[in-house]
Amino acid sequence: MEKRSYERQLMRPLLNVAKDVPLRLADIACHQGKIYPLCYVELKSSNPRAQDVFISAGIHGREIGGIYAALRFMEKSIKNPDPDFNFRIFPCINPTGFEDNTRENRNKADLNRDYARIGSQAETRIIKLLLTQQAKRYAFTIDMHEDSVDDPVSDIMGEGEFPAEKNPTDFYMYEISPPGSRQGRGVIQSLERQGVAISRQKRIYAEKNNEGIVWTPKPKSSSDANHSTLFGYLQKYTEHSYITETMTTWSLERRVDVQLLALDALLGEFMKK
Ligand SMILES: [Zn+2]
Repeated sequence: MEKRSYERQLMRPLLNVAKDVPLRLADIACHQGKIYPLCYVELKSSNPRAQDVFISAGIHGREIGGIYAALRFMEKSIKNPDPDFNFRIFPCINPTGFEDNTRENRNKADLNRDYARIGSQAETRIIKLLLTQQAKRYAFTIDMHEDSVDDPVSDIMGEGEFPAEKNPTDFYMYEISPPGSRQGRGVIQSLERQGVAISRQKRIYAEKNNEGIVWTPKPKSSSDANHSTLFGYLQKYTEHSYITETMTTWSLERRVDVQLLALDALLGEFMKK
C-alpha cells in the first residue's frame, strides 16, 4: 500500500472546499519537525433556529471510512446547505495516524484515551481548547469510527484482551443520552430499511449491546462521566453524544456510504425533536 499523505489526501480537498467557505485552523500539531494543521469548517445556516452539530472523524487514524465520509459530507453540504443545522466539521483529528495507518498517533498514544485531564498529546489539547474557547451547546455530536474485525482489542475498561473472533462484524453505534430522549433506535431502524446489517451480538467488548446500540445514560453531574474519550468528553457540550462504527472488512465505498446514512438518519431524528 502506498503511504498515505495528509497533505495530499486531506489538505488538498480541504483547501478546495475553502474556495466556498472559510477553512479554519484550530492549531498545528508537530511530529518530528513535520507540521500537521488541524483544520475544520463551520457551515452556518441563515435560519436562526438551526441546531448546532459537531462532527469529527479519524481520531483513530486507520479508521479512514469516517474521514472520507466527513469530507464527503462537507462537500455535499456546501453544495446543498441544510437550513436546519449548523455544522462544525473536523474530518481528521489524528493526521499522523492517518498517514501511518495506525490507531494511535506517531507518539504511539491512543488519542481517544487522552481526554481525561489536560491531554498528553498536542492533538487532544488543540481540540479541547477549541471546544472551550468557542463553546456551543450542540444538539448532538458524532465521532466516526470503524471496527477492525481481525484485530484483537486490548484493555477496554480494564477487562483484559478481547479475542478477534468476538469482534462485531456488523454496524453498531454508541450513544450517551438522557433516558427519555434516546435517538439511536430511529437511526438503526432507518439503516435496516436501507439494507445495512446491524450487530445483534449480546455484548460488544465489555458492554451490553441492545439491537445495535451500546447506550450509556447521561450522568447527572459531568464529574461522574468518563471523559478519557472524546465521545465522553463532549458531554460537557451536548446532551447527545454518538459514535458510529462501520467495519473495515467492507469496501471503503460501503463504509463511507453507511457512515453518511447514519449521519443523515441522526439529522432526521433531531429534526423531529
Ligand atoms: Zn476507533
